[in-house]
Amino acid sequence: MSSATPLPPGSTIGILGGGQLGRMTAMAAARLGYRSVVYAPEDHSIGGDVAAAHVRGAYDDTAALIRFAAQADVITYEFENVPEATVAECLRHKPVRPGVKPIHVAQHRLREKEFFGRLGISTAEHQAIRSEADIAAATALPGILKTCTEGYDGKGQVRVADRAGLAAAWQKLQRRECILEALVDFTCETSVIVARGLDGQTRCFPIGINDHRDGILRTTTVPSDLPAEVEATAQRYGVELARGLDLVGLVALEMFVTRDGQVLANEMAPRPHNSGHWTIDACATSQFEQLVRTICGLPLGPVDVLAPSRMENLIGDEANDWLRYLADPTARLHLYGKATARPGRKMGHVTFLKRS
Ligand code: AMP
Repeated sequence: MSSATPLPPGSTIGILGGGQLGRMTAMAAARLGYRSVVYAPEDHSIGGDVAAAHVRGAYDDTAALIRFAAQADVITYEFENVPEATVAECLRHKPVRPGVKPIHVAQHRLREKEFFGRLGISTAEHQAIRSEADIAAATALPGILKTCTEGYDGKGQVRVADRAGLAAAWQKLQRRECILEALVDFTCETSVIVARGLDGQTRCFPIGINDHRDGILRTTTVPSDLPAEVEATAQRYGVELARGLDLVGLVALEMFVTRDGQVLANEMAPRPHNSGHWTIDACATSQFEQLVRTICGLPLGPVDVLAPSRMENLIGDEANDWLRYLADPTARLHLYGKATARPGRKMGHVTFLKRS
């Protein structure tokens, strides 16, 4: 396929990862007439449940990756912790969008913050913590100490008040390479999701307000009602990031908004994002369809808000209330088909549509 030629419906999208983001991507792909093949290490995955095919293999199983790539016309990933070597292997056989660079940047918090800095995207004060000397010199206090790799949903993070607390926290995190970020006194959290097509065209989804508890996203409310200049800054950062990464696909940028209207980037994810789930029910194009459009070289879809909405995650046992949500005419229920509800596990979400 030349880069300018759209991949026609009937083609197959390969998805690395078998979780809910891959599942919802496969559902959006099916709606447009595409097939999906999911690659996951498990025998059974909730992404594979809704795809035409499932290839089981470890992320370093070259033979299985080659079999997977052979079935796909284009490949994407649904989580940013796919090993870089896995993506590189896939790239030897088929186009992978968004590619290696976005995950290289997203997999390491310090690298990510440095990348933001180079693009002129503001962040909280931060510093590397790799030694006792770094602790003695630390100034981003009170702050949050985060491991540079493998932390998500608040995992691998400790709040620290002073250098003594920082020293204890670093021990707790097994003296791994960390980033210390000054605690931001934010009024709210927000995120922007930007799509960038094969032709370099970008489009931002409308911005919502994100509410987190224990480091996990609980709700996203749209519209944000943030001042226009704050929204404009957030969108400009998102577009700069998508261009800077030279990606084809989606990138989500999570940000803090401070009392004085500053926008500070926290982290990014080069994939559909939990804060964009409202788009399935309340936007002209869902984030999952937009991903399919970008990686298949199709025109980007419109992003008009169809109704004000609030997305609520169903975490752990909360998904047991499914009957109640089904009885609510303002609720749109999405369950991910996960067999067991563990505390902190995202089991589904509901989008409540408000009458405007
Ligand atoms: P993260 O894993 O970096 O997305 O952090 C999870 C959540 O912890 C964020 O959504 C915030 O609610 C909170 N958090 C993370 N970093 C900071 C910070 N530097 N200042 C204040 N809150 C933070």
